[in-house]
Amino acid sequence: MYVCGPTVYDHPHIGHAKSYVSFDVIVRYLRYLGYKVRYVQNITDVGHLTDNADAGEDKILKRAQRDRLEPAELVEIYTRSYFEDMDALNNVRPDISPRATAHIPEQIELVEKLVSEGFAYASKGSVYFDVQKYKEYGKLSGRKQEELEAGARVEINPEKRNPSDFALWKKAEAGHIMRWRSPWGDGFPGWHLECSAMSMKYLGQTLDIHGGGLENIFPHHECEIAQSEAANKQAFVRYWIHNNMVTVNGQKMGKSLGNFVTLKDAFKKYHPTTIRFFILTTHYRSPLDFSNEALDAADKGLERLHNAVKLLRERLNNAKDGETPPHILEKLAHYKKVFLEAMDEDFNTSGAIAVLFDLSKDVNSLLSDGHEVGRKCLEDIDTFYRQLGGDVLGIIPKAFESRQKEESGALGNVMNVIIDTRTELRKAKQWQLSDFIRNKLLEIGFVLDDRPEGTTWKKTK
Ligand code: ZN
Repeated sequence: MYVCGPTVYDHPHIGHAKSYVSFDVIVRYLRYLGYKVRYVQNITDVGHLTDNADAGEDKILKRAQRDRLEPAELVEIYTRSYFEDMDALNNVRPDISPRATAHIPEQIELVEKLVSEGFAYASKGSVYFDVQKYKEYGKLSGRKQEELEAGARVEINPEKRNPSDFALWKKAEAGHIMRWRSPWGDGFPGWHLECSAMSMKYLGQTLDIHGGGLENIFPHHECEIAQSEAANKQAFVRYWIHNNMVTVNGQKMGKSLGNFVTLKDAFKKYHPTTIRFFILTTHYRSPLDFSNEALDAADKGLERLHNAVKLLRERLNNAKDGETPPHILEKLAHYKKVFLEAMDEDFNTSGAIAVLFDLSKDVNSLLSDGHEVGRKCLEDIDTFYRQLGGDVLGIIPKAFESRQKEESGALGNVMNVIIDTRTELRKAKQWQLSDFIRNKLLEIGFVLDDRPEGTTWKKTK
């Protein structure tokens, strides 16, 4: 399975979270079913231009110049940032994370092959793919050649035979420091090329699954197909999976719109597992709208689910031996069937999550009516949570962080000093100052709850 990875010129945002959590669950589920999955997700560190086509500046180079960094330095900073946030979201790391700049020879070789077989032509130091020579161009996006030409709003590039031809290799102008030697002179690879070259290297000429965002269908994936199938004379991909995008309060997210949310900012307010859970409550092919209200609701929902699991595990700690009653075994088998049916239906994660909630209702009533429940029964239910809620969906942790340890430790002592100080301020009617403390704590992830019997605190992350 190959998934188009991030272009590492900035911190990841919530759109990256939706995309890579969705693909992570697909990998996890296939592995749960017993498939041996090799998951390749590239790191784009050259060639992705600001207008997504063949014009504009290289995103990496542009940012590196602004920040006065070596491009490789910039790439290192944001690659680390990317993995840090993906780890927090509990995404399993890809088996291979190939970088475009580490595969220049493979990319040049692919271009040479396309040129020698007449699918591509060199022009003034750049090389373009000739879409006229590949009759199936447009088959993924459903775009027709004539429409593509008529709709080409990009400036006419005199180097191209046809406006919809796309760059495989670009000539590096003087001063363009990201450059490599090639048979056509110094230059750098086009963005689409790396995914063809690297997927071929690690997964063979026909991949089972290729994933990416909906916005990548055209031109990126269309171009990947053209390059790969022209070179290999066989199907490039068996199944395409495209993930929908994120909106913020109903609006498209964009830096220019001022509603751009990085994951690092989102994690200040919400636990990464809450964000993961929230993403999975919507189907991957549907858009997802981020709003504080929706995330607050997700946070409450996840807490309900976690409380049922915590209750179960507490009871398991002091359980006496005993078998699982047949009606519970039947129920678990039924829930498992419904869960798998939902996942088999194009990875319907929200349907799968609903099963976990149904089970939790049963757990709560089973454990609250005072009956003794045997160890085996509690273990069977916990196994269900661990495999389907933990291994497959990644939303139920193996162990919950211990609140008690925090409350009695150094953090608890410091929080008590802060709460006592604030209580004194409130007694003295110093409301402004006491609100200031509450808001500052909220910013760093601590919620205070004022009650008649005293103030308590809770961590949001
Ligand atoms: Zn790609």
